Amino acid sequence: MHTYEKIKEDLIQLGIQKGDTLFLRVSYRAIGKIDGGPKVFLDALLDVIGPEGTIFLSAFPKKHITQLRWFYRNQVISKENFPKPFTGVMPLMALSFPEARLSNKLEFPFVVIGRHADYLTENHTHDKRGYWLTREAIKKYDCKCLRIGGKPLFGTSHLSLEDVFEAQNAYMSKLRKGIYIRENGVVKWYDEPNITFCGKAFDHYRDRITQASKLKEGTVGDGYAIITSMRKSYEEEMKIYSEDLHHLLCDNPDCYLCRTSYSFSDSTNWKYLKRQIGRLFSRDYKAAFTNIQNILLKILFEKKS
Ligand SMILES: [Zn+2]
Repeated sequence: MHTYEKIKEDLIQLGIQKGDTLFLRVSYRAIGKIDGGPKVFLDALLDVIGPEGTIFLSAFPKKHITQLRWFYRNQVISKENFPKPFTGVMPLMALSFPEARLSNKLEFPFVVIGRHADYLTENHTHDKRGYWLTREAIKKYDCKCLRIGGKPLFGTSHLSLEDVFEAQNAYMSKLRKGIYIRENGVVKWYDEPNITFCGKAFDHYRDRITQASKLKEGTVGDGYAIITSMRKSYEEEMKIYSEDLHHLLCDNPDCYLCRTSYSFSDSTNWKYLKRQIGRLFSRDYKAAFTNIQNILLKILFEKKS
């Protein structure tokens, strides 16, 4: 069992300093048990960065297919009635801090604690893009990404993809998903398009981004930890995707995302559907069944984003 002091010492060893602005991609499970639970990790981190520092985490709520919103008309969220985020235990813990602030853009919210919390959350409004808050934190505060557990993640892929897609007129076709939000007594449906990518394809260039953006690596508790410069990872990703968007495609013929979702994908909805129907009679029938459900929903409801 790790103590508060041990976690704090590990964070200092990792190069975290007073006044840092940090985007957290932290797995509590990877750290191992802490005396006092996951909240103690955040206490230790906030202690190291001090009142001049800021942390932020994605706190996305579960969303539903926009065309089916009638079925979800009774699930209305608001700042006072915010559901458990699907992004993990750390955002949930962060939300429990009295000084925590949540984006005004509740369909795509981040939870922020610290010096820049008011500015970042109050200006992250419905008319801004989903990852506006991350972009702003890089531009204004040169923020870093703290990743603990699993493979390195950088928090900048969505930004670089948005920019490269726009520059190259590429797009993604996917289901539009949203949620009902109550604001000033009015209930309205909000959805927000968002580019996603395949983790298997990402493995091909993860090391390259790590090398370009790594500030320091070490351990926190039992977990592998790495701090990266988000400005540098963004720049490296811009280079990679600008070279060739096909870097984003993995080579698995059954990958739903890579084969069908992008304007530069190499299959079509119908070809992909046919292939999955063929697989229904193999031992992969469960995966094939899920893929068929996904592709049928996509054919019915997809939108470009
Ligand atoms: Zn893939």
